[in-house]
Amino acid sequence: MPPLFFAELRYRISEVPVAKSTDIPLHFTNNVISNKGAHRAPEKGQTSMTTDFSPWLNWIDTQYDEMLNSTIALAEINSGSLNAAGVNRVRQQLAEYFSVLGGEMEVIPVADYEHLSASGEIETFPLGDALRIRKRPEAPLQIFFCGHMDTVFAIDHPFQQLKWLDDETLNGPGVADLKGGLIVMLKALEALERSPFADQIGWEILFNPDEEIGSPGSAPLIADAANRVHLGMIYEPSFPDGNLAGERKGSGNFSVCVRGKAAHAGREHHLGRNAVRAMCDFISALDDLNGQRPGVTINPGFIEGGGAVNIVPDTCISRFNIRLEKPEDEGWCHDRLEELIAQINQRDGISLELHGGFGRKPKVLSGANLKLFQLAQECGHSLGMQLEWLPTGGCCDGNNLAAAGIPNIDTLGVQGGKIHSSDEYLKVKSLTERAKLSALMLMKLAASEDRRWLEET
Ligand SMILES: [Zn+2]
Repeated sequence: MPPLFFAELRYRISEVPVAKSTDIPLHFTNNVISNKGAHRAPEKGQTSMTTDFSPWLNWIDTQYDEMLNSTIALAEINSGSLNAAGVNRVRQQLAEYFSVLGGEMEVIPVADYEHLSASGEIETFPLGDALRIRKRPEAPLQIFFCGHMDTVFAIDHPFQQLKWLDDETLNGPGVADLKGGLIVMLKALEALERSPFADQIGWEILFNPDEEIGSPGSAPLIADAANRVHLGMIYEPSFPDGNLAGERKGSGNFSVCVRGKAAHAGREHHLGRNAVRAMCDFISALDDLNGQRPGVTINPGFIEGGGAVNIVPDTCISRFNIRLEKPEDEGWCHDRLEELIAQINQRDGISLELHGGFGRKPKVLSGANLKLFQLAQECGHSLGMQLEWLPTGGCCDGNNLAAAGIPNIDTLGVQGGKIHSSDEYLKVKSLTERAKLSALMLMKLAASEDRRWLEET
């Protein structure tokens, strides 16, 4: 990675003569947004500069109709995580939209998704391909942009249509989570590319196909990008009130298969080994772990097994999720799970197998991450938004990036709510508002001479 401190910029921002694009308004509004007295690096080396970012922010306002239309077009494509064809259509559409930025594009296949079936077999499902776009890998500041293309709504889910709830609120699958965010990312980067600040920032975008199932296929791509970047900007929706997600819990998804022995329930009941009973005992003991360690919650969420009631059931599967607050909670959970599994496996004729693991580490905020939030807050303030960052039990790719040591904000997408339900909505005004927030952050980062704070642990 390039060093984060340069004694002198190649040019002073105030000396940058003109924007490259001809259609940027040249007048300055009253609402001049300046970095004077605003965010600055904690150490010496910062030179005070007054910079007017408003031409590029104002340009974003002119893009509202296009942003809305593009968001609608993306949301009209079903891209449930296992609908690989739909996810790939979204990818093709994004490749077209993002071609305006002039980066180098690469389509990257990811590993198939593995899933424990009701019969206890591992099934595999192909996923859509990821799309990576890179530009200026030699620039002094390298930023990772990420947004997922998939939604939680499978191709046969009843929620497929968009509808206006009122003039400002659009209801539709993925409008907030996070197709609107993809367009926010696009316009923020377009504004940067049109500005004279662009050459300070190199960027790498990853559109991944599988975030809603825990990013099993794309996690290696995120970890790989972490080797090349200084910070991350991820376009999950903000909280409904507009605030950003700060610390996030870690999460693990697990599947359990218990096998016993089938037998006729009347004639040879004594020869059977009941897998459903063994699973029930396992789940009860598992659920009893709740409350034993602060910050750790366990949710048995699914069970399926058995068949005809005149047969002792020989197979039962279940799925559960664990959330945890601290990285060290993982070891505690593994130890408890091993104990429970050993207890069940001691039973005559019963075997229990556990699949899965902790795909998302807890997102703990480093010093650099806190400063990045302060930058977002200041930029929001300049734009008339009051932004706080709040802890959440939810997870996303920001967890993965933080686990790799990269400070990031992962809720830079649109303002909306009721995500993962048929009531999901997007506050359409937030399309331009949030694009301006990201664009201003990028331009301020570009204009800052000392970025060593990004290395704070
Ligand atoms: Zn999402």
